[in-house]
Amino acid sequence: MTTDFDPNDIHLEQLLLRNRDWAAEMVAEDPDYFKRLVTQQLPKYFWIGCSDSRVPSTQITNLLPGDIFVHRNVANVVSHSDLSFLSVLQFAVDVLRVRHIIVSGHYNCSGVHVALMKQRIGLADNWLRHIQDTHQKYERYLGETLPAQARYDRLCEINVIESAINVCRSTIVQDAWLRGQELTIHGWAYGVHDGLIRDLGMTISSNDEISTKLEQSLARYKETPTEE
Ligand code: ZN
Repeated sequence: MTTDFDPNDIHLEQLLLRNRDWAAEMVAEDPDYFKRLVTQQLPKYFWIGCSDSRVPSTQITNLLPGDIFVHRNVANVVSHSDLSFLSVLQFAVDVLRVRHIIVSGHYNCSGVHVALMKQRIGLADNWLRHIQDTHQKYERYLGETLPAQARYDRLCEINVIESAINVCRSTIVQDAWLRGQELTIHGWAYGVHDGLIRDLGMTISSNDEISTKLEQSLARYKETPTEE
């Protein structure tokens, strides 16, 4: 980038200038890059992540625009009645026919922290109530004996696990599997402190695998109840 840019003093004009620099760099590297994207998008991956500015899916997986179809919300919650999310999921599975759905949460997630501490922040309390419900459901893995940071980390992970299960149980994924469409769900957790993604072992390609993968993922917590 050639434009001076101070993230503490952001002007929209600078964003537009940076956009021009970026587009020029992309064309310099690959003259047909944008021409190819105009005709169609063929992403293999559908990413369900947190809105957090530190977790941009394409950048942290070192991919390019056109590679990942994305839905993000506060704390990567998958709710069975969220029509915005369900519409994106249906488009990804039925129209784009993605092969992989990645639910990726992240450690130090503010939304998870608010739910964990039962803080009141406003309207979003109603959204984050889903995570409080998850907390209650898996309380035995989040005991008071754990150090505070370990409980926080664990709830970030369990929130991903619950969201991944909810994706599997959606009518859209159920119908896709029923008609024999290849579709695999994954559960990941990203470390904002080190830039690394952890695979939480929730790789699920059929109904038969759901309960086994859930048990295996949760068993890890029983074996190491006082980690960190
Ligand atoms: Zn977050």
